[in-house]
Amino acid sequence: MINKGHNRQILRIIMLGLIFFSGHISLKAQNKVLIIGIDGTRPDALLTAKTPNLDGLWQNGAYSFRAKTDPLSWSGVCWTSMLTGVWKEKHKVYSNSYKNPNVKDYPHFFRRAREQKPNLKTYSIANWKPVHTILQENDATVTIHRKTDAAVTKQVVKTLKNTDVDVLFLHLDNVDHAGHKYGYALENKKYIGAIEKTDKKVGEIIKALKKRKDYEKENWLVLVSTDHGGSGKGHGEAIPEHTTIFYIASGKDVTKGEIKKQVNVIDVAVTALKHLEVDIKKDWQLDGEVSGL
Ligand SMILES: [Zn+2]
Repeated sequence: MINKGHNRQILRIIMLGLIFFSGHISLKAQNKVLIIGIDGTRPDALLTAKTPNLDGLWQNGAYSFRAKTDPLSWSGVCWTSMLTGVWKEKHKVYSNSYKNPNVKDYPHFFRRAREQKPNLKTYSIANWKPVHTILQENDATVTIHRKTDAAVTKQVVKTLKNTDVDVLFLHLDNVDHAGHKYGYALENKKYIGAIEKTDKKVGEIIKALKKRKDYEKENWLVLVSTDHGGSGKGHGEAIPEHTTIFYIASGKDVTKGEIKKQVNVIDVAVTALKHLEVDIKKDWQLDGEVSGL
């Protein structure tokens, strides 16, 4: 009789241990990254526009409104820098025509992430199709091009709702369209208006993110940035109006407040890799740094 009770006691201790141990494991949230790319958005225009959703992200997160993009401020050059973590001298994209990008040596950060974590589900959903040029086979689990920001947003919301996505990059283009058509200026109501409409889309996306079934168990880092600014009806030059960009990082692991150091467009990929707990190798020769974590 004594033995039986004793055994039962031991069994109870083992069971309690197992419960504690499994509880402990599930406490470790799965790290995930959402990158919202808003083409052609000047930081001063962002601060002029009424953007409650973006404000919610930066005011509760880490941010810089004096970050820098490539001096050659074309979309192709700058998106490639953002997504590879290196400057154009390495990735070799010098225009929007993406001639001979050096993706072998400096691939999209999706590839770096999946080299170490092959099970990561990586999604790229873009309005401007050329942004996908640098993706090699198997870099992205899913690559989707949509012709409008509304369709991109719809696809992103659907993806966040229904899939076990780990990394999602999305690209919205309407702000840049407004800049090219009406002018990139603070006093331009149509440019400012485009930013305000885009903010509503950001709101829909964040709402969908927070409604994920396992949102509380997941640890999302949301990064929001742009490829370049603009002046007049264009961009591409090495002047502050074109090269000054914003950078926002939001999530449990960010160090809240303004980021004091110089932030650069190349920091986006590196910060994403860091959050995904990828071991960032020296021989990758990345130019970017972790910003906001
Ligand atoms: Zn652009």
